[in-house]
Amino acid sequence: MPAPVPSEVLESLRSRLTGLPGSDGRIQSLRPAPLLVGRVCDDEPLFCTEAAVARAWPERLLRGLGAAGMLCGAERLALAVDEEQSELLVALRRATSGSRVEIWPVAPRVPLDADCLLADLMERPPPRLPAEPGRALLGRALVLDAVVLSDLALIVEGRPLLHRAVTVCGLVGRPSVLLCALGTPLGEVVRSAGGSSDPSGVIFHNGLLAGAPAPPDQSVELHTRGLLVLPHDHPALAHRSVPVDDELRRTMSACGACRACSDGCTAHLLGASLEPHRVLRAAGAAWGRPAQSLDAALLGALECRGCGLCNTACPSGLRPATVVDAVARRLRQQGTELCRPTPLQPHGDRGGRRLSRRRLVERLGLSTFGAPDPTIGGAVLPAELRVAARGPGGAPRVPVVRAGEPVAMGDLLALAPAGSGGLDVRSPAPGRVLSIDPDDGILLSVC
Ligand code: SF4
Ligand code: SF4
Repeated sequence: MPAPVPSEVLESLRSRLTGLPGSDGRIQSLRPAPLLVGRVCDDEPLFCTEAAVARAWPERLLRGLGAAGMLCGAERLALAVDEEQSELLVALRRATSGSRVEIWPVAPRVPLDADCLLADLMERPPPRLPAEPGRALLGRALVLDAVVLSDLALIVEGRPLLHRAVTVCGLVGRPSVLLCALGTPLGEVVRSAGGSSDPSGVIFHNGLLAGAPAPPDQSVELHTRGLLVLPHDHPALAHRSVPVDDELRRTMSACGACRACSDGCTAHLLGASLEPHRVLRAAGAAWGRPAQSLDAALLGALECRGCGLCNTACPSGLRPATVVDAVARRLRQQGTELCRPTPLQPHGDRGGRRLSRRRLVERLGLSTFGAPDPTIGGAVLPAELRVAARGPGGAPRVPVVRAGEPVAMGDLLALAPAGSGGLDVRSPAPGRVLSIDPDDGILLSVC
């Protein structure tokens, strides 16, 4: 049992550790938890950012895990490590030998957000964690990813966050993991990975499942984990511009109610009532009618986790996630929300229905692209950086520099507004401030 930490020390640390976004851009919570699990397993196909960070800075990862464990009051600490990363497993076992940190190999399945990882661990309990009470312990556990833990270690040491490890994969000359200064344009990151042979190729910021297409002048931010570049005619892009009404009409005529989308639905397998095929059926009947006539099956759409797996499961090539998402947005616009989050109650058949990362790569048509080596393969520092002037929630930061001023690496550029939960912004490199705009960010020329 660790020695208790004085409350004033904890408070001082907590005040410095707020504002870290995960890969989904949401601020990570450091709520009390009896078990803290550090995730060292990427859940986007072809990404290996978490493995690369853990390989590059294992001690930093462990310091972050220890700091987070102290702040959460966790009695047990574990790292859930991709079981396909055998060298990393050996390195982390060596680094944690004699400590209280447990190493749990996990199968790389998708998606692998906190709930999915904990449900996987309930189904395949790690050594020294018997099914019961391990299941109850996992039900109250907190999961933080390797990048967030590494960031925590730097913040505890009083060091600024100036870079991101970014996986660059897909249609690029050299798939790799690059250490990019915050504010680097995504197009520059792609060029540093050998560039794309398709000038009309599309960059997906943070991948195809959880991410979104992004322009080349968008910048690397704290929540950036990777870029997937796809050729403009890749099948995964074909349906993205189809209006939801057209998708719904297509679904009504082609859906055979085979249930494949519901059998593999991530939310359904975690215990939600959501069944995409029932939402599709009800949406077809209710579309365009007033709210009071909505079928109860539609409410399940509010439990959708946006993983997009159902799109990859449909034998008729339909996109149930598009319709489910449209239904959820419409319900929210009408003021309908979930009263409380769905409790984690994994479906009895969940283990057999989970999708491996390898299978998903095939389904998404990504098999022709190689996965990068999970090591940091170079650094990117362009001549100009554009650092975000708004926090993750969109609140504007308060600039403390003026255009024309020189700045040193790590100098403060803008303060997060009080109570916003965001982080202050510092200069990732020595240079000069060229311009400041709340929407366009703080533009720096690098010396
Ligand atoms: S996107 Fe599809 S698979 Fe994922 S939770 Fe929503 S309905 Fe289920
Ligand atoms: S998988 Fe496709 S065809 Fe089957 S129920 Fe779902 S939407 Fe309909």
